Amino acid sequence: MKILQGTGASQGVALGRIKIIKSKNTNVTKHTIENVASEIARFNSAVEKTKETLGVLYEKTVREASEAEAEIFSIHIMMLEDGSLTDCCESIIYEQSVNAEYAVSEAAKVVCAMLVDTNDDYMMARTADVEDIKNGILTSLTGENEDVILDENTIIFAHDLTPSQTINLDKSKILAFVTEKGSKNSHTAILARSMKIPSIVGVTGCMRAEFDGLECGVDAEEAAVFIQPDEKTKSKILVRGEVQKSREEKLRTLKGKKSITKSGKEIKLYANIGGEDDLDKVIENDAEGIGLFRSEFLYLGRTELPDEETQFCAYKKVLEKMQGKETVIRTMDIGADKQAACLELEQEENPALGYRAIRICLEDNDIFKTQLRALYRASVFGNLSIMFPMITSKDEVERVMEVASCVRQELKDEGISIDENVRLGIMIETPAAALISDELAPLVDFFSIGTNDLIQYTLAADRQNDKIGNIYNPRHPAVMKLIKMTCDNAHRAGIWVGVCGELAADTDITQTLVAFGVDELSVSSGYVLAVRESIINSN
Ligand code: PEP
Ligand code: MG
Repeated sequence: MKILQGTGASQGVALGRIKIIKSKNTNVTKHTIENVASEIARFNSAVEKTKETLGVLYEKTVREASEAEAEIFSIHIMMLEDGSLTDCCESIIYEQSVNAEYAVSEAAKVVCAMLVDTNDDYMMARTADVEDIKNGILTSLTGENEDVILDENTIIFAHDLTPSQTINLDKSKILAFVTEKGSKNSHTAILARSMKIPSIVGVTGCMRAEFDGLECGVDAEEAAVFIQPDEKTKSKILVRGEVQKSREEKLRTLKGKKSITKSGKEIKLYANIGGEDDLDKVIENDAEGIGLFRSEFLYLGRTELPDEETQFCAYKKVLEKMQGKETVIRTMDIGADKQAACLELEQEENPALGYRAIRICLEDNDIFKTQLRALYRASVFGNLSIMFPMITSKDEVERVMEVASCVRQELKDEGISIDENVRLGIMIETPAAALISDELAPLVDFFSIGTNDLIQYTLAADRQNDKIGNIYNPRHPAVMKLIKMTCDNAHRAGIWVGVCGELAADTDITQTLVAFGVDELSVSSGYVLAVRESIINSN
């Protein structure tokens, strides 16, 4: 037996046989072509075909994972449409009279080098997307089918898996993913988690050809991969698998139960969504409401801003489907790690500290008012709360409230009915907001603590940068103090306070959050029942 160690990216155990997936299209050859015009036409039709394929992958990911995870494919379509890669390909074909395959590989190198040169973590991470797009175009050009035939009970070993490879594989045959590269926060790891497939990343030395076809055990909790496991290891994995299965069955029995602590405090247990396609999972997992609808997903992957009607229809659908359960919709949080082509934002040195979210809305009142009009018009179809992101000062909250009141008045003047009871709350996701939460609380109806950003800003640690993953510590005492302070200040002002960042789904911390006094927890749908169990077991 050989044991390889990595990082557990998606929990679970598996026992199966190894299938090594090699990276595709690595051996592109260069040759001269006679007819440049027809090569450019061949290239353009491959780009169109790639866009179609990406559209299909988008739909498949929405079905198998969620709309939020599928968004990566609309970003890829947008990257193809913005022209930086395709224009570069065309010039290479034109200037060097070379085949399109070679031009695509060279153009991808140029674009990746430009991204790396920015020295910005977000931009540098986009190189993986350029690679994925390049492979898509090469597949369209060569007509090579990406389909990999899998046997039952397969454990996939790969150097790294792109999101499109991951979503294309036949998941009914896959028990686990093991990759040499990759990080806990890579898109593939996120996809694996939402599809509930155990996954271990960063497993050095897993790509040895002789491993192909061997029996293998995976234990993501121990981040261990066992090649040709001995009988003792196999039975340990099987036992863990059984424990896991019965745990899932036990969790299912919590559907329909209330989320009440031992001391009798009822916690609102809500779900986070990226769009209406995520609602089936919300209902299936028995979430009691929506604690965070990341409305920016309506803006991403488009070249035009979504108009009032488009937004109204999306919000109405979500509110109707939630049948009167509280639905917290956050106004768009664009900027930093979520760039939208339709806003044409300038490149910034420090986008996470730059022009984003409420800062854009307060600068560009048209965008903000359009979204608020759509939200208030939809309010009569359900139980709406509106939440504002990236707040740092009292002045911002006061200006937000002014715009909201102006929009309400405008709609009333137009004879459009709105729900007068729509609650307005803010995200506490900057240390500034937490530190002045005593002054902010009287101005709003609720607080929702966005721990993903609160941790990054408190610890000065980029949430996207794996190199400093050890510094991005959700349990750092400074973060805990800010959460506690926010809860106390909310309650002093008589408003409710929730947590909607990833920390809300960490069941080892539920007891602490409950002790701090949080009234609401909002998590990805797949974690709702596990968090309910933790609440029930909390004092
Ligand atoms: C957060 O920052 O914790 C949060 C929930 O918002 P997002 O992850 O969308 O930035
Ligand atoms: Mg945030």
